[in-house]
Amino acid sequence: MSHTKKAIVIGAGIAGLASAIRLSVQGFEVSVFEKNNYPGGKLSEFKLDGFQFDAGPSLFTQPENIEELFSLAGEPIEEFFQYQSLPISFKYFYDDGTVINAYTNNQAFAEELESKTGEKKERLLTYLEGSKKLYQNIAGLFLNNSLHQIKTLFSPGVAKAIATLRRKYLFKSMHELNAAHFTQPHTIQIFDRFATYNGSNPFQAPGMLSLIPHLELNQGTFYPKGGMISITNALYKLALKKGIRFHFSEPIERIIVNENKAVGVVVNRKNIFANIVVSNMDVYFTYQRLLLDHSSATEVLKQERSSSALIFYWGMDHSFPELELHNIFFTKDYQAEFESLFKSKKAYADPTIYVNITCKIEPGLQAPMGKENWFVMVNAPANMGQDWLQFRAQYRAAIIEKLHKILGVDLEAMIQVEEVLDPVIIESRTDSYMGSLYGTSSNSKMAAFLRHPNFSKKIKNLYFVGGSVHPGGGIPLCLKSASIMSKMVAKDFKEK
Ligand SMILES: Cc1cc2nc3c(=O)[nH]c(=O)nc-3n(C[C@H](O)[C@H](O)[C@H](O)COP(=O)(O)OP(=O)(O)OC[C@H]3O[C@@H](n4cnc5c(N)ncnc54)[C@H](O)[C@@H]3O)c2cc1C
Repeated sequence: MSHTKKAIVIGAGIAGLASAIRLSVQGFEVSVFEKNNYPGGKLSEFKLDGFQFDAGPSLFTQPENIEELFSLAGEPIEEFFQYQSLPISFKYFYDDGTVINAYTNNQAFAEELESKTGEKKERLLTYLEGSKKLYQNIAGLFLNNSLHQIKTLFSPGVAKAIATLRRKYLFKSMHELNAAHFTQPHTIQIFDRFATYNGSNPFQAPGMLSLIPHLELNQGTFYPKGGMISITNALYKLALKKGIRFHFSEPIERIIVNENKAVGVVVNRKNIFANIVVSNMDVYFTYQRLLLDHSSATEVLKQERSSSALIFYWGMDHSFPELELHNIFFTKDYQAEFESLFKSKKAYADPTIYVNITCKIEPGLQAPMGKENWFVMVNAPANMGQDWLQFRAQYRAAIIEKLHKILGVDLEAMIQVEEVLDPVIIESRTDSYMGSLYGTSSNSKMAAFLRHPNFSKKIKNLYFVGGSVHPGGGIPLCLKSASIMSKMVAKDFKEK
């Protein structure tokens, strides 16, 4: 009889893949069950008429989270995954004709801001210094550990981290903090936008989120060779190399609980037993569908869901030398846009538009030469049964009109192929409740503490990873959730 400990991972999203690798390194025999017929969850791709598109995430920061997995597994990363750093993170376009390049070299960005907006260089440099300090003081604790174990809450580390937090980071909203620091509306808008990195509203979310720019502008913005899908492919390949077994198109139907302990899962009406179960499925649906625990599911909903998005994938029969890899076309009135995203939950007439074009970095690879693969995204409210067909039509028209004004071309005539992703499809494709991109939002001061922990308080040997649980959504945090979970498992199994 084998004495190897067994682990079941539900879902092959980025957090599920990282969890499987970590548990395998810890000596578990790992099986991953995935409802789709491909790995990566939101981090996937598709091809259309000679164009290749990254379906979900497009911005890559903190490659060290990926490197760590390869070094833990004892495999040379360069044989699986390559990436490069980018000199410009984003190119920002405004209605008044201003165009700003956000250079990842802080001095160059400071000079650009001063020359384009009049914002004094020092203001940017001190802001980014503050962002770095905040990250260094807080990240070690809030992002790399569970906040939900009594020992962490009362540790000297927490007291020290909270003591270092200046009042402005806790009591001001992100927008208030940015407006107090910068003098120019265009700069304030750039730094307010970082709240959207976890689907939050800068006019509500705490100033604490101003640590996010540190990742992109101090640590750097990167591009994975072959596009974002290379992250999924590299981790999947690594997992296979470690002997992890994948079962695609096999949705888990139930988690089996015996005497308050998770002991396995039901799949295809068969029981499969294991020592631990790790759910990478949205925590709301895990309670609702796999545990039939409706009261815990309702509890999760006490925290507001993150925003969702509408994405138009356009194969463009034209190339645009004036555009970069990442481009933002700002709305005139950011506050009104966020009100409609989080309050009225309606379509907004003048949305901020994000256009990502990966063939800028690898010409000829993801689009035929002379053409471009556009990933065009606008933030959208979480799905509450709105009329998405109408939303699509409204947003599509608004995007074409706005880009026509700024780029001066008839975009409609250049769209060779089109595909659309809306919150309802996001929800059904990866079981993300309400189509939220990042699980829950950070629209409250207590958001970090309210997010669901990486373990179950009621059921032993059941763990949670991914964007809907601590420390939150986005690739870096999803990868950190797998690290926190694996540390817990190591401790729980050592104590036995
Ligand atoms: C359009 C879009 C743009 C984004 N942009 C960025 C970005 O630029 N940068 C960034 O860092 N992040 C971005 N994000 C967020 C990021 O994609 C997510 O936070 C992250 O990929 C979530 O990973 P995950 O592992 O938590 O979950 P998911 O990717 O949702 O994976 C969960 C997996 O579980 C599977 N599953 C669900 N139920 C079951 C079941 N019962 N049985 C078996 N399997 C099941 C699902 O099929 C899925 O594969 C974006 C997301 C979207 C949708």
